[in-house]
Amino acid sequence: MSKPKLALYWAASCGGCEIAVLDVHEKILDIANAFDIVFWPVALDFKYHHVRAMEDKSIDICLFNGSIRNSENAELAHLLRAKSKVLVAFGSCAYEGCIPGLANLKSKQEIFDWVYKDSPSTVKQNGGVFPQTHTKMPEGEIEIPEMWDYVKSLDQEVEVDYYIPGCPPQPTQIWNVIEYILSGKELPPAGSILGAGTKTCCDECPRERKEKKLKKFYRPYEIVPDPNECLLDQGLICMGPATRDGCGALCPQANIACRGCYGPPPNVHDQGTKMISALSSVIDAHELEEIDKILDQIADPIGTFYRFSLPTSILRRKQI
Ligand code: SF4
Ligand code: SF4
Ligand code: SF4
Repeated sequence: MSKPKLALYWAASCGGCEIAVLDVHEKILDIANAFDIVFWPVALDFKYHHVRAMEDKSIDICLFNGSIRNSENAELAHLLRAKSKVLVAFGSCAYEGCIPGLANLKSKQEIFDWVYKDSPSTVKQNGGVFPQTHTKMPEGEIEIPEMWDYVKSLDQEVEVDYYIPGCPPQPTQIWNVIEYILSGKELPPAGSILGAGTKTCCDECPRERKEKKLKKFYRPYEIVPDPNECLLDQGLICMGPATRDGCGALCPQANIACRGCYGPPPNVHDQGTKMISALSSVIDAHELEEIDKILDQIADPIGTFYRFSLPTSILRRKQI
């Protein structure tokens, strides 16, 4: 009997999700044994024309990581959607836009101006050289992907069957999903989140929680937190109450506040507003002026509350 066919692809991303697949250690051999890997450009020599030549729906499962930032990302999203029976948004970039999605705070022109003209490390020639989608050369025309004005999650471009959250997803969770698929059990309903829990990060965090009354927030370098007490109780912004469980509260266990990479918990549409609502119940002030003073201590609110989810949040992007 032929093995199921697996594809992995990396769009606008740091590549950490693909490295997380390798972090399943020796179980990678089980994956290689169980699947025919038909596309995995980061690890094996496949070309796009190999995928174009495949029959539609001939890939059984495609783990697609990375957000949609440019025309190449979008083209591959549509191609892999057409060729795959099951398309999985793998990791926070594909699921929610993640760190690349913070670029939605700027327009494409502002990003280009900074990167190719204004940043102190840029050597300017003729007022700045910007990328051109098409460039004529003696040997022919060179084409590079066109950067888009804003970053999208995968499901803002094509239909997605499942989501595996995390930046990156934890290898144990990746293996749980693979094992589930290999078991031959019926897959969960389309749209399900796989490889995560149904509660919040706080539910799997061993730290002791007390009644919170906060007058001051600290940045991580300002205090050495008590290793046993809830970090939020100690004035560090820990996104645990607004984050889905599944990672084993990895960061709080290492004395670092959760940044929220597993995305919103079930039934929460917007992770940032969920966290703001969690904070509003613990800030110890009643006068507007004092509340403002306490909130002013939160550096970079968008980067804090929407670090992983800006493109899929209610804010989504800068109006251009
Ligand atoms: S989700 Fe995180 S680890 Fe994965 S590609 Fe995006 S930034 Fe990298
Ligand atoms: S807020 Fe953070 S530190 Fe506190 S219980 Fe939740 S996950 Fe743990
Ligand atoms: S603790 Fe939070 S930021 Fe850290 S891995 Fe878990 S969900 Fe991600």
